[in-house]
Amino acid sequence: MVTENLKNVENKICQACKRCGRDRREVTLIAVSKTKPVEMIQEAIESGTSIFGENKVQEMLEKQELLKQELPEQELQWHMIGHLQRNKVKQLVGRVAMIHSVDSIRLARQIEDEFSKKNKMAHILVEVNMAKEDTKFGIMPEETEEILRQISQFHHIRVHGLMTIAPFVENPEENRVYFRNLHKLLVDINHKNIDNISMDELSMGMTGDYEVAIEEGATYIRVGTGIFGNRQYI
Ligand SMILES: *Cc1c(COP(=O)(O)O)cnc(C)c1O
Repeated sequence: MVTENLKNVENKICQACKRCGRDRREVTLIAVSKTKPVEMIQEAIESGTSIFGENKVQEMLEKQELLKQELPEQELQWHMIGHLQRNKVKQLVGRVAMIHSVDSIRLARQIEDEFSKKNKMAHILVEVNMAKEDTKFGIMPEETEEILRQISQFHHIRVHGLMTIAPFVENPEENRVYFRNLHKLLVDINHKNIDNISMDELSMGMTGDYEVAIEEGATYIRVGTGIFGNRQYI
């Protein structure tokens, strides 16, 4: 099932790129494997996927360990996409390629502290709540510049761009405005020439809306259900 779903998603990515004149290589697919067993991740790896997204630190580390035993020769990349508690940051040092969900200066400071202790660089995106939903994490769009100015002081953090989780909607066209505005925000901030801040990544689009997100400039799309099927939360 996973193999077939991946082919299907790949086709849609290619079509979306073609529609808007982008090169397929500008878009990185993150296979969101949260709640799914390592057997399914293995199937995805066998079909050529090597980049996975998880939203819980413990679950991510457990899966990394299991897969290291099963497939020691595989080079995998893990992205933390879910809300991150400060007391979990320490465990992530050296274990994560990108943290997509930095949503406060306090969290950024914790990342700086823990990564500096091990002399590692943290690669992050700042999560913006574009639709201003009460139920979502992420900073407000108008706070983004100020937070980036503060983060730019941290020597062990490199900000690569912005991330958003759009509302759950029936018609993905409804989310186009949020993707477009996140892109605009990225461009605006780049024009301000903040020291150490030069961003080119946009993490936006999930199973329901990744094609629209690609048309609006996404460089990372985070697809779970479309690859691994529906999730069951126990
Ligand atoms: C779960 C999750 C996804 C994937 O959602 P699907 O709709 O299953 O594709 C993407 N991004 C984040 C932040 C998530 O938590």
